[in-house]
Amino acid sequence: MKQEKIFPEKFSHPLHLQDRFGRKLTYLRLSVTDRCNLRCRYCMPESGIPLRPRQEMFTWEEMERLVRLFASMGVRKLRLTGGEPFVRKGIVAFLRRVRAIPGLEGIYVTTNGVALGEFIQDLKGVGVSGINLSLDTLKPERFRQLARRDAFERVWDALQNCLEAGLSVKLNCVVQRGFNEDEIVALARLAQKWPLEVRFIEEMPFDGQGVRRKEPLSAEEIQARLEAAFPGIQADGFSGTAQRFSVPGFRGKLGIIAGYSRHFCSDCSRIRVSANGLLRTCLYGPARLNLRDRMRSGATDAELARAIQNAVWARQRDGFEAAKEQQGTESMVRIGG
Ligand code: SAM
Ligand code: SF4
Repeated sequence: MKQEKIFPEKFSHPLHLQDRFGRKLTYLRLSVTDRCNLRCRYCMPESGIPLRPRQEMFTWEEMERLVRLFASMGVRKLRLTGGEPFVRKGIVAFLRRVRAIPGLEGIYVTTNGVALGEFIQDLKGVGVSGINLSLDTLKPERFRQLARRDAFERVWDALQNCLEAGLSVKLNCVVQRGFNEDEIVALARLAQKWPLEVRFIEEMPFDGQGVRRKEPLSAEEIQARLEAAFPGIQADGFSGTAQRFSVPGFRGKLGIIAGYSRHFCSDCSRIRVSANGLLRTCLYGPARLNLRDRMRSGATDAELARAIQNAVWARQRDGFEAAKEQQGTESMVRIGG
């Protein structure tokens, strides 16, 4: 975690969070736990990932301090992810507290939906801006093979209950060659029936085992499948990392995220913090800063801000450059997806 490139003094305004390529970082993805109630095969081995001791994890109070600091530095969008955020007790109280932080304009949660059901009304009450729900198949047996747990019905019910409650929903579908590629069209049709965005994600090599199964189905291939099924489909610009599409007669939208091909680095605004306090300036690269240790050894907000600015300034041009510095393959459950 060596930092050779130092954020220039002339930019040291506390609101500034910018890298040396001029990209402003305004979107924080905070992993609140490395625990999960599923074992998705593209994310971790069947036996799971060795869990870190609880005392190594950020407390909710530490996370709140950090979110406040990031918001004061220009972060406007916060996403809670994991691991599975809803397996950690106290998430609703945390959401309520961070909702009140000045500067934050949107708070989102990414979840596998298994434990989501009981939280839907709370999420609505807190005013969460949107839920990203991961669902890669409409077939219960296939779900069990993929997630190694039998939970399709719970996720399906949670999806419908979120829509009924009027929550904004994006469905994340990781497309796996030879496994669920035959469901692209059926999954896309959910956006015909319901006002949600169905986003197809290229599979990435983040299963924590370094096992590359097959060359992933590319964004172009996914798009070709959608174009063949929906001739009126129209590209509709980018929303973050997703190329969006609209289809005549659909209530919702479609999206493709080129997570493997990385078409989106040139205007990436994301910064990630893992549940044990490691800051990453790129999903594909190594951690750049240990915020937890600095906070626990008494760093002031100004010292933390300076260290974050330096880490951000040194960010690599793109995910391919960043990946050259990464050794081995981490699991998404640890990085924070
Ligand atoms: N447990 C929650 C969930 O599954 O939504 C949040 C964390 S999960 C790591 C966040 C997102 O990363 C999910 O949409 C998941 O499908 C995606 N993901 C995990 N491993 C992936 C991989 N190898 N390639 C592409 N996406 C992946
Ligand atoms: Fe858990 Fe999400 Fe990883 Fe699946 S993708 S194992 S639900 S963290």
